[in-house]
Amino acid sequence: MSNAALELRQISKSFVQGGSHLDVLRDCSITIQPGELTALVGPSGCGKSTLLHIAGLLEQPGSGEVWVGGVNAARANDAERTRLRRQFIGYVYQMHHLLPEFSARENVVLPQMIAGVARTTATRRADELLGLVGLTERLHHRPAELSGGEQQRVAIARALANKPRLLIADEPTGNLDPHTADGVFAMLLTLAREAGLAALIATHNLDLAQSLDRTLRLADGHVV
Ligand code: ADP
Ligand code: MG
Repeated sequence: MSNAALELRQISKSFVQGGSHLDVLRDCSITIQPGELTALVGPSGCGKSTLLHIAGLLEQPGSGEVWVGGVNAARANDAERTRLRRQFIGYVYQMHHLLPEFSARENVVLPQMIAGVARTTATRRADELLGLVGLTERLHHRPAELSGGEQQRVAIARALANKPRLLIADEPTGNLDPHTADGVFAMLLTLAREAGLAALIATHNLDLAQSLDRTLRLADGHVV
């Protein structure tokens, strides 16, 4: 049992590529309490995205336990993992991963409807969230009609749409110019704090990491 927002216990993950065996994560353990905002730092290629994919239930660990919502998701079947992901986790990627043929509003409405929320309720929440990220004038724009910073703000609104308890973000401002990155990062933190979310945010930027509650460093497959 775990009351933490996220608990990774002795996670290991290897990849086999071209006949060689790469141990990316070795006995990684992380506990994030409810409401705790945690940065994950480390050089490119050290395994941050791999760790976040496992924490976000997008990928299975080679071994170890992933506790989310009081359940060890590493033992759960696909349907249960999907339910846990929808109910507890909001995910923001480095590249927004918005659906290109849908408007900003629709991108925030769709995950709610998939979770069973009625369209009118989902639309009201989408408009509210897009307002919070300053995009009230952009509801009907498609991703290609938005700037990079605006696209990431839609992605943040989408991640919050189903009221997750845990926000996972993988270098969410890594593709933005420094000025825009600072604004988007500050917005992400404000919304996470207001909603009392726990967060695990990978970033290269040590200044941004310092604005969180705690920084974890990933090196040689271990969290230090
Ligand atoms: P980071 O996000 O810290 O830059 P990643 O987690 O993306 O690091 O990658 C860690 C290491 O694992 C890299 O050396 C990468 O090449 C390797 N890797 C990641 N995903 C795969 C995969 N699906 N197959 C093989 N190797 C992978
Ligand atoms: Mg990465």
